[in-house]
Amino acid sequence: ATQDIKVLLLENVNQTGQAILRAQGYQVEFLKASLPEDKLIEKIRDVHVIGIRSKTKLTARVLREAKNLIVIGCFCIGTNQVDLKYAAQNGIAVFNSPFSNSRSVAELVISEIIALARQICDRSMELHKGTWNKVSNGCWEVRGKTLGIVGYGHIGNQLSVLAEAMGMSVIYYDVVNLMSMGTARQVQTLGDLLKGADFVTLHVPELPETENLIGATELEQMKTGSYLINASRGSVVDIPALVNAMRKGKLAGAALDVYPNEPAGNGDYFTNDLNSWAEDLRSLKNLILTPHIGGSTEEAQSAIGVEVADALVRYVNEGATLGAVNMPEVNLRSLTMDEPNHVRVIYIHRNVPGVLRKVNEVLGDHNVDKQMTDSRGEVAYLMADISNVAESEIKDLWQNLEDLSSRIRTRVLY
Ligand code: NAD
Repeated sequence: ATQDIKVLLLENVNQTGQAILRAQGYQVEFLKASLPEDKLIEKIRDVHVIGIRSKTKLTARVLREAKNLIVIGCFCIGTNQVDLKYAAQNGIAVFNSPFSNSRSVAELVISEIIALARQICDRSMELHKGTWNKVSNGCWEVRGKTLGIVGYGHIGNQLSVLAEAMGMSVIYYDVVNLMSMGTARQVQTLGDLLKGADFVTLHVPELPETENLIGATELEQMKTGSYLINASRGSVVDIPALVNAMRKGKLAGAALDVYPNEPAGNGDYFTNDLNSWAEDLRSLKNLILTPHIGGSTEEAQSAIGVEVADALVRYVNEGATLGAVNMPEVNLRSLTMDEPNHVRVIYIHRNVPGVLRKVNEVLGDHNVDKQMTDSRGEVAYLMADISNVAESEIKDLWQNLEDLSSRIRTRVLY
């Protein structure tokens, strides 16, 4: 029953998320801070659901103690604070919030396009130091210019619409063929994009293939006097090559929000101690440097609360794993659990030959209305809606699945 579900929320996760979990009737304990490991181990033994942000480390050592835990919600983007593999192997699903801040990033990039074209940051910095320096040379309107978007996903799409509204033409390059927003046009190669754009903005994921996607060769292909914006991941741009291109005047400006090594906290860290080129960057004109704030808005924070809490509720109540970062994605659309004698079986198991035959022997005494199964690496996830199950039979059904050697975790929802 939902009242029996115990939830522990750490690190002051957003109120929007807390409200959604409380509205389900779950028992929610909310703490503002993270917990030291010994306290965490003590508390985690008890709960079914834990919500964290980036400071709580859910290592195998901690998760080993979490005997009742079925799901982890990371109320943030990153998930490297959790041992995802250990969690999956122990039937614990992990969710995060990858897309709640897409709009915030797109808006930051729009502001940077105009700021670069008008050298706003340099003028502001000069005037802060007391110098009046009125310039029109090398300053442009953005209307009629071409924006080149590399990676046309959630952020690239938003940006496409916003840029056209300002009178820009949009071209984009992506590894898959995609539907264009408005009158944007997909180009076939990265080279075509670099040659055609006045502004190039990067929105690809961090992958081996995107490491140094923009290096000396690519910068050379860009128009002289064009601009580069990177708010994706620090590994995507070869920074020494960028410094070089800016010093030569090949680029008229650039904006960086992400870096290969980023400091863990706020303070005076942007020096050569952290990255050998930090001081080179600091010396360049019309280069906007921001400390990874693309997604840092109040709206994105509250959207994270909603996105993650909704995923947790769907997982607890219905077993749906859509969007899980460490489990196969499985969902059955219509839920018949509310009808008498209907149950939903969730069977998380090791992906070994012959499992499904054994599972179906157990389920076969009943009427299987729907069934879906998928695997991810060593872990497989089966969901089945079955009818003709008397309440007295539920315990046996659960026990028979639990007794199979491939079992990681069995849940019967009714
Ligand atoms: P997304 O998954 O929705 O879109 C990424 C797109 O890139 C996809 O269309 C994919 O097909 C395409 N792609 C993949 N490899 C490619 C390649 N080699 N060349 C061209 N296209 C390729 O992702 P998103 O939500 O739009 O995020 C994009 C990036 O922004 C990610 O790196 C994400 O980590 C980063 N991000 C940064 C901030 C910030 O604070 N600065 C915030 C959110 C996201």
